[in-house]
Amino acid sequence: MSLKLKNKFTAELPADENLENSRRQVLNACYSEVKPRKTSNPELIHVSPELAETLGFEKDFIHSKEFLNIFSGNKVVEGSTSYAMCYGGHQFGSWAGQLGDGRAINLGEIEHKNKSWVLQLKGAGETPYSRSADGLAVLRSSIREYLCSEAMYHLGVPTTRALSLVLTGDQVLRDIMYNGNPDYEKGAIVCRVSPSFLRFGNYEIFTARQDLDTLKTLLNFTIKHHFQHLGKPSKETYIQFFREVMERTLSMIIHWQRVGFVHGVMNTDNMSILGLTIDYGPYGWLEGFDFGWTPNTTDSQHKRYRYGNQPNIGLWNLYQLANALYPLIEDPKPLEEILNDYKSVFEVKSLEMMRSKLGLELQQEDDLKLVHELETVLQLSETDMTIFFRNLANLRKDDSESGIQVIEDAFYIPTDISDKIRQSWKSWLNKYKERLQEETLSDNDRKTKMNLVNPKYVLRNYMAQLAIDEADKGDYRLINELYTLLKKPYDEQSEYAKWFAKRPEWARHKVGCSMLSCSS
Ligand code: AMP
Ligand code: MG
Repeated sequence: MSLKLKNKFTAELPADENLENSRRQVLNACYSEVKPRKTSNPELIHVSPELAETLGFEKDFIHSKEFLNIFSGNKVVEGSTSYAMCYGGHQFGSWAGQLGDGRAINLGEIEHKNKSWVLQLKGAGETPYSRSADGLAVLRSSIREYLCSEAMYHLGVPTTRALSLVLTGDQVLRDIMYNGNPDYEKGAIVCRVSPSFLRFGNYEIFTARQDLDTLKTLLNFTIKHHFQHLGKPSKETYIQFFREVMERTLSMIIHWQRVGFVHGVMNTDNMSILGLTIDYGPYGWLEGFDFGWTPNTTDSQHKRYRYGNQPNIGLWNLYQLANALYPLIEDPKPLEEILNDYKSVFEVKSLEMMRSKLGLELQQEDDLKLVHELETVLQLSETDMTIFFRNLANLRKDDSESGIQVIEDAFYIPTDISDKIRQSWKSWLNKYKERLQEETLSDNDRKTKMNLVNPKYVLRNYMAQLAIDEADKGDYRLINELYTLLKKPYDEQSEYAKWFAKRPEWARHKVGCSMLSCSS
């Protein structure tokens, strides 16, 4: 099988005329042509067979030399232009100017069954956007991105995908905790796949530079290829476009809140225009339910991107996108309306999501209160979010006892559960059981429904770290085990029950488990 790629992005959008691979400001262009760097001794660690099939790859192809050559960056696909995109972004609340694909190189688009996907190699070498960095990625962060993007997909969370994980055979220097202790690590490349990798920052950069011609060309391209249903580009279409981006962003963040995913770096260059989770860096999964938690040590002071703040940041980022689109719309009113709608729609959808986690089908006035009370009790002592919701489904609505034994496994430190906390739990559980009396579902049917939205297995931070530690020693079996496990996160999979467990104590303060930096 030979790979045939299309190049709509490069054919229809303005290119950087400078073909040198030198670091610079790139003006009036959406991308720069650049080839992946050659790797010295590539080795395929893992492929996602489901995604390969979705892309129309034959089984033999994924294990061929040709596949390894292409997805390690050693062979350019014939007839295709590879490129890095130009974008800017707001990082931690401030405008950062030009960022761009500093280490991601897009190979082109593959079309299969009327769908189009961009193939992108992350860690494939320097580009004009590499600034002061090397354009490479290390094995540890590549495993995290590879496993998590596929896990998110199977959880039903909108996300970019990951096709392959390749070891490059090259060494990469990194100072993991930014504390003056650099060391060599193994280099790796993940092939990411998405209908588009456009981010809010792709539009922001042109407005910041007052380059409204390129802004308009890019927006029209986006609508033509990714929002066709909106029709011919016009001011009205741009407004509809913004509304849809708002809705998709909102829906993605509701999913994050549902499964306990904390992105960690919600800068506007990491916000997909398609509302997909993108750029898996220092992300993490809630273990103890805690609105104030962030895995990102680079953000430990202000905790801007903490779990409970993700919805607000989604809105803040949409404001930046609105500002970027404004010059093409020239009327602030419709944009403001959409931004205001975000808040009200969020409240409605968020309550809907929490009702589903609690197995409530009817809408009752006091439900919001019940949810808020739960969130308070959950934070009285360290309580595992995933285990809590999964086990809550075992509660019997006519249980004459409080039912607290059903959720006790979720408590991290049982001695922390004072009489007062125990009382708060009993009182909440009683209200919940009373509320369940209004519902018509049987205990069993409620459990079945709850188990479709409350995953049993997520990629706990320590699990990814264990897979990384083994892979560093050349053993990739755990990567495969976690990959397989996370394909069915809502299924019981009793053979994997050991992964339905609280984070072990050794992982509480370990680098890579609870503390992650942006170093990758
Ligand atoms: P991130 O924090 O991963 O979203 O990256 C922010 C910006 O830094 C993007 O423009 C990336 O392309 C760039 N970047 C991150 N790591 C590297 C690297 N190792 N080499 C070159 N550019 C990088
Ligand atoms: Mg990024």
